[in-house]
Amino acid sequence: MFIIEKLINVVAPHYCMVCGYEGAVVCAWCLPDFAAPLPERCYVCKVTTKNSAVCKKCRRKSLISHVWVRTQYEGPAKQLIHDFKFGRKLAAAEPIAQLMAESLPFLPASTIVVHIPTATNRVRKRGYDHAEKIARALAGRLGLHHETLLMRTTQTRQVGAKRIERFAQMQDSFRARHPEKLQEATVLLIDDLTTTGATLEAAAKCLKSAGAKTVNAVVFAQK
Ligand SMILES: [Zn+2]
Ligand SMILES: [Zn+2]
Repeated sequence: MFIIEKLINVVAPHYCMVCGYEGAVVCAWCLPDFAAPLPERCYVCKVTTKNSAVCKKCRRKSLISHVWVRTQYEGPAKQLIHDFKFGRKLAAAEPIAQLMAESLPFLPASTIVVHIPTATNRVRKRGYDHAEKIARALAGRLGLHHETLLMRTTQTRQVGAKRIERFAQMQDSFRARHPEKLQEATVLLIDDLTTTGATLEAAAKCLKSAGAKTVNAVVFAQK
């Protein structure tokens, strides 16, 4: 935890957003029932698949092998993401990471955790990259290595764009950093939210062109 956040915590302690208990954004008692887990399914067409694999049909248009999604983007989960991103509730990274970790199977120790970088103009506005915070918390929990291996090349906002437009907008919007670390690598992509998957797929495309062998992803919520 950052010193500044510790200070904020002393001045204005966190209260559980479910029961109001003092000390955590979501307390230990409320966390297990906080975000209903989604069934294992293909994140594109929602058909049931083993271990949340992208189904055979969707594999033709997807570069990602497995996408684990913890929960639906609604209710308290939606509120938690909103507070985290816009309400400066940095401590929300921990419960989000814990809930995401619970959706994951065992992953090989060589897996590299890579977050989808937030557009720099938004990082500047908020003062932190929320996806990076989740990735660090999650990697810590899983005992995996986190690396910042992606950077943004564009600042495109996706709001309002249709699915097909989103995919077109996101093309080539990432660049790989340290491609030498990506050779034959298995990557676990991290983001808080996905809708159409355009951002995840663009990131996967970039990582694979840079040399990654397998790209999987874990997302907190899907719209
Ligand atoms: Zn509680
Ligand atoms: Zn599918």
